[in-house]
Amino acid sequence: MSWSEIIGQPVAVRQLQNAVKRDRIGHAYLFYGPAGVGKRTTARIFAQTLNCLESGTGDVCGQCRSCLQSKAGNHPDILEITPMGTSIRIQQIRDLSREALFRPLAGRHKIFLILGAENMTLEAANNLLKILEEPPAYVVFILTTTANLRLLPTILSRCQQIRFAPLTVQAIENYLVQQEAVDPVLARQMAHLAGGSLSEAMELRQEIQTEKSLREAALEMLTQMGEEDSLAALLRFKPWEERSQVKLLLQVLGLWFRDLMIWQKTAEERLLVNQDRLDLIRRHAHLWKQADQVLSLIQDARQKLEKNANIPLLLEVFLLELFEYRGGLVSASRSRGPL
Ligand SMILES: [Zn+2]
Repeated sequence: MSWSEIIGQPVAVRQLQNAVKRDRIGHAYLFYGPAGVGKRTTARIFAQTLNCLESGTGDVCGQCRSCLQSKAGNHPDILEITPMGTSIRIQQIRDLSREALFRPLAGRHKIFLILGAENMTLEAANNLLKILEEPPAYVVFILTTTANLRLLPTILSRCQQIRFAPLTVQAIENYLVQQEAVDPVLARQMAHLAGGSLSEAMELRQEIQTEKSLREAALEMLTQMGEEDSLAALLRFKPWEERSQVKLLLQVLGLWFRDLMIWQKTAEERLLVNQDRLDLIRRHAHLWKQADQVLSLIQDARQKLEKNANIPLLLEVFLLELFEYRGGLVSASRSRGPL
């Protein structure tokens, strides 16, 4: 592990490295920001840096005994607390408090990473507060959270808050191409779909790899729907009934119809995400004339999916509605609520 592994968080990295360089280490840090943007990785690297026997520059040496233990995840003075089930319980914080009384064995600091701190029960949070008020001099807490406003104000006020920003599309795209050797066209799509989260992008990549054919199958379905006046194409798509599959399908379709809409309005290739399928975009722009309305339909279905809708029913209704948009045949008077 090293600081260079952290992508797209220059401000947070600079703040933390400066603290190490100036030897001004706080007792408690709160890393907050969306999921999948590097909070946990940064917490681990920061902890490694604090206990690196050769650190002084703000970086890690990567070679000393302490670094080797950190990298292996078995440093005796760096402890991670994560939710048991859905919450971090009072017993975990009691154990932590007891452990904090023992001086570090190997490093300079005894460091507790509390990952997903918003999941502390109220009792656990109140218990943590006691030790946050008067921590032993060698103790450093690093809390990470996606929901800082769900923490007690009294905890927030005792932590130095470090913001982690959503990653840019470009940062995710670069990472996927350079570090993960993902095909550039695919990387671009993934980066657009990931909503600023690298972990989301990696998950999508996994899903795309296991179901490589999903986009092609979806596009084939659209082509057939557009060209045939039958539901046969739709029925071939029925097996996609798992939540994750439907989610991915809606994302893929969302990007596709976004491209169609942009093409219909601007005919500018450089604005398209699916640049490897220009021919098909041109064809579909004729088959699916109301791309903007289909986008609303997709948006609608995505919201319903988030609300734990009945997946098979959701998919069936969605595909039937989608089917009616082929060729731009839907009349304006058709009632399906606000678009
Ligand atoms: Zn070291």
